[in-house]
Amino acid sequence: MRAVVFERFGEQAGVREVPDPRPAPHGATVRVEATGLCRSDWHGWQGHDPDITLPHVPGHELAGVVEEVGARVTGWRPGDRVTVPFVCACGHCAACAAGDQQVCERQTQPGFTHWGSFAHYVALDHADVNLVAVPEEMSFATAASLGCRFATAFRAVARQGRVAPGEWVAVHGCGGVGLSAVMIAAASGARVVAVDVSARALDLAREFGAAHCVDASRTPDTAAAVRELTGGGAHLSLDALGAPATCAASVNGLRRRGRHIQVGLLPSESGTTPVPMARAIALELEILGSHGMAAHTYPAMLELVRAGVLRPDRLVTSTIPLDAVPAALAAMGTPPSPTPPSPTPPSPPSPAVLAPTPPSPTAPGTLPSPTALGAGATVIEPWAPVR
Ligand SMILES: [Zn+2]
Ligand SMILES: [Zn+2]
Repeated sequence: MRAVVFERFGEQAGVREVPDPRPAPHGATVRVEATGLCRSDWHGWQGHDPDITLPHVPGHELAGVVEEVGARVTGWRPGDRVTVPFVCACGHCAACAAGDQQVCERQTQPGFTHWGSFAHYVALDHADVNLVAVPEEMSFATAASLGCRFATAFRAVARQGRVAPGEWVAVHGCGGVGLSAVMIAAASGARVVAVDVSARALDLAREFGAAHCVDASRTPDTAAAVRELTGGGAHLSLDALGAPATCAASVNGLRRRGRHIQVGLLPSESGTTPVPMARAIALELEILGSHGMAAHTYPAMLELVRAGVLRPDRLVTSTIPLDAVPAALAAMGTPPSPTPPSPTPPSPPSPAVLAPTPPSPTAPGTLPSPTALGAGATVIEPWAPVR
């Protein structure tokens, strides 16, 4: 098969013939029809992820058609249209037994722990646990956008965040996962305040249902702005960027008994991030993390997509063929980084990283900043003719 391969970290990847993958007894191979390009692919290519061994095929946001299943797979057969969460679970550990596959103790991640989906075929483990049926009417490009950013935002807002109609929801950082969160919160009947340094990201947030937008590049205290706009603070607030400043702003923008959901990664040199816990005590705040979404919880989200309540298709901003991936991957390293005039507003690290997954600063879930690749997903179609 043809695949995007890199032999050394940070050196230009190539597109070449490699052996087709075969499924494990519990696994499946999927013919990739579309796959998303994500900031964490760039991190992996740069060598920031200890799970990756060389040579390597990246890619973790995929949708396609089952090609072959292992002998122990009972729920799937060749020809099925499928996608997967970026966290693939083992199905046997205590977390999996509790239904919490998104925090599986022995999780695998295509494009990180093994070869991924920037290829004509990808092997996936524990197919009965991890595959999700893609409805006939949903395009593969849309399905590919679900597994990383959209499902992550859905769980953060609807499950961990327990959003309710009429509540105020603040979203700090409007990249792929943040814009998804804006759309999901607004569709839930919440009133959304979107915060970002990028005017383009805020325009999209407004399009996706934000009632108010706060331009962090010219608002020194975004938490105060959120409290002002919401009459005392948000009921629910997300740090969808993952930076100490946005984390603190999210917590400080909450009203009494509000909920903060940390979705963006918090890489820091010390490995820890200061959180305003005095405020958490005084106001009885809830501070929660959110990490992907288990495959068995997809149907509720897919039903909202089918009904047109949620429109993940609107987050796909461009489509490129497989052969264009090496250049697109390299281009992610040099986004035009926004420069806020004041040191205090939430400023994305340069290059900006939006990231929902806690285990390491480089795990899948890092999303391109609004300035890196457009605000939404770039989807690769491996079977598309080369330009
Ligand atoms: Zn498990
Ligand atoms: Zn991703």
